[in-house]
Amino acid sequence: MTTNRPHIAVIGAGLAGLSCARQLQETGYMVTVFDSGAQPGGRMGTRRGQGWQCDHGAQYFTARDPAFSEEVARWEAAGVAGLWEPRLAVIGGNAPALEQRSTARFVGVPRMNAPASWLATGLVIRNRVTIRHMRHDDAGWRLRSDEHGLHPEHYDAVLFAVPPQQAAELLEPLLPLTAQLASEAVMQPCWSVTLRLAQRHAPGYDAAFVNEGPLRWLARDSSKPGREGGEVWVAQASPEWSAAHIDTPDSEVAASMVAAFRALGGPAPGAVSVHRWLYAKAAAESSRRAVWIPAVRVGLCGDWLLGGRAEDAWLSGRALASSVTASVPLCFGEPCSSAR
Ligand SMILES: Cc1cc2nc3c(=O)[nH]c(=O)nc-3n(C[C@H](O)[C@H](O)[C@H](O)COP(=O)(O)OP(=O)(O)OC[C@H]3O[C@@H](n4cnc5c(N)ncnc54)[C@H](O)[C@@H]3O)c2cc1C
Repeated sequence: MTTNRPHIAVIGAGLAGLSCARQLQETGYMVTVFDSGAQPGGRMGTRRGQGWQCDHGAQYFTARDPAFSEEVARWEAAGVAGLWEPRLAVIGGNAPALEQRSTARFVGVPRMNAPASWLATGLVIRNRVTIRHMRHDDAGWRLRSDEHGLHPEHYDAVLFAVPPQQAAELLEPLLPLTAQLASEAVMQPCWSVTLRLAQRHAPGYDAAFVNEGPLRWLARDSSKPGREGGEVWVAQASPEWSAAHIDTPDSEVAASMVAAFRALGGPAPGAVSVHRWLYAKAAAESSRRAVWIPAVRVGLCGDWLLGGRAEDAWLSGRALASSVTASVPLCFGEPCSSAR
């Protein structure tokens, strides 16, 4: 029976790819998810080491859409997300609007990638596989990866849930107009620094919007619910500073950001790790939730289509799954027109 179901490849196991894959699998499609990373989550990432962990990508997520609010409630019930109520400060410049400060903020528990791991449960996920190319023949789409060359499987549809510049590279040889649409999306970079401290740092806030110097955001990761291990803070640079230092060596970036942290009263960290997010956040939203080209059965989803937040990624994935469901026939048993 199962061999007659359409088989769909999803490239990217961030929130968008996972929400899309999960909805398709629950509808009855066969789904295989590929991700270049070691584990699902993408930009909802957590760095871990001996006795410490730190969310070094997304810091928290909000839930404005009713469908996403219901999903977050499911995550809370499953114990993989929780409310984070940091004591917030605003340092320098203009304070954010009061409404923004009173928004409910959620985090993954015990770490930011926990909701992604939960979504991934029951899905076929192939980690550490970087898709570089795809091609079509009479039996459907085939994928080529760095690790395995040309994959033997054929897919009835291929869905890209990767940052737009990466989607554009993959689509350029086959669908140049769609590649252009993706390449026009502007993504802002972000340098993120994890600061491990020897003892508790108590400046009177757990997180701060910073409006001066290199930094834009500062948070005591240890103040989030369910965290264990030593005292850890994260500092993230502004998009402008990150762009201006995009090719600066890690060590110099770390030195500048630690100096900014210390200028705000922070102690000298015992250890520092730095990460450059080339495509951290979308600078603007587009006019559609997802892109689906039924004639070739290729689709795109991701936060960048809707506005750049975790919630947008999840919603975009669902929107793409609905488009696929509406146009790729799902049938069980024989005969089945879409089965090979
Ligand atoms: C520093 C930072 C701070 C942020 N802060 C917040 C915040 O406070 N609140 C908020 O709501 N959002 C925040 N975000 C944004 C949020 O993380 C994203 O909106 C969301 O995680 C995007 O999900 P996605 O599935 O669209 O993409 P991603 O999470 O980027 O997932 C894409 C996946 O595709 C994989 N991939 C890429 N290319 C390939 C390939 N060729 N082959 C196979 N796999 C591939 C990647 O490994 C990745 O896992 C932040 C992001 C960053 C980086």
